[in-house]
Amino acid sequence: MKVGVVGCAGRMGQMLVREVIKTEGCELSGGTEQPKNKALGIDAAIYSGLPECGHTISEDSEKLFAKSDIVIDFTLPAATLMHLNYAEQHETSLILGTTGHNQNALEAIVKASENITIVKAMNFSIGVNALFALTEKLSSMLDASFDIEVLEMHHKHKLDAPSGTAIALGEAAAKGRSVYLDDVSVRGRDGISDARKKGEIGFASLRGGEVVGDHSIIFASESERIELTHKAGSRGIFSRGAVVAALWTKDKSPGLYNMQDVLGLNKGS
Ligand code: NAD
Repeated sequence: MKVGVVGCAGRMGQMLVREVIKTEGCELSGGTEQPKNKALGIDAAIYSGLPECGHTISEDSEKLFAKSDIVIDFTLPAATLMHLNYAEQHETSLILGTTGHNQNALEAIVKASENITIVKAMNFSIGVNALFALTEKLSSMLDASFDIEVLEMHHKHKLDAPSGTAIALGEAAAKGRSVYLDDVSVRGRDGISDARKKGEIGFASLRGGEVVGDHSIIFASESERIELTHKAGSRGIFSRGAVVAALWTKDKSPGLYNMQDVLGLNKGS
């Protein structure tokens, strides 16, 4: 499978280049960066700390989509529409790890998935996807006398808040209670002077240092509390998951899939 990596000089991009190169059944087809990036013109593997692979980092995304079976995108939400466009034009599958999309972009992703295979996940780690399944189950077992709060901490460079994973945890909890997250979600309580309302799902975000990603979901009643926590030790869990997802798409029909589909966690649900 010929796999391209857009944004290949980023924190995730470099991990993805290394993962693609070391994975049997995958061949790196190239990597791109945005104009003026200092990595342009440098060999993609060398930039990621490996021996030369012969693909210099280019800003020509369309060319990369044209020569790839699948492209992995962990970049910026602003790049997604362009990448969807090239993927459709060249019938290239897409692994979408970028977070922070607005409603317009989310609708464009759904539309493009009528013609191409897309795996989109807020979090590509196996452990976090197991946590989503556990959260939905636990939430279905507890009534609204348990208040649900989601707490996340990430490195100081992260641009979006709350994290995509925190939102997905909230969605899993809302699904377990058969409600819509948008109807019950409270994003930060600064400036709110009212007491917490029953049934709310609250979010809090911390930023600092080089924390890869910590997420907790807390179910608190008046006299007991259940907390589920996942701590990411390395970005390798995301790049590994993204490449597993890329291989999984082989022979899949066009559609919008998630990591739960890839891992078989949606079976029977
Ligand atoms: P980063 O800033 O280190 O890397 C992003 C890279 O994309 C940069 O090198 C940037 O120059 C490049 N880029 C931006 N626009 C581009 C374009 N149009 N064409 C080519 N390259 C472009 O960020 P990061 O920490 O690697 O995270 C990237 C994204 O992945 C974020 O949205 C983050 O939230 C998300 N992320 C998702 C998961 C997951 O499992 N889904 C895990 C980690 C990070």
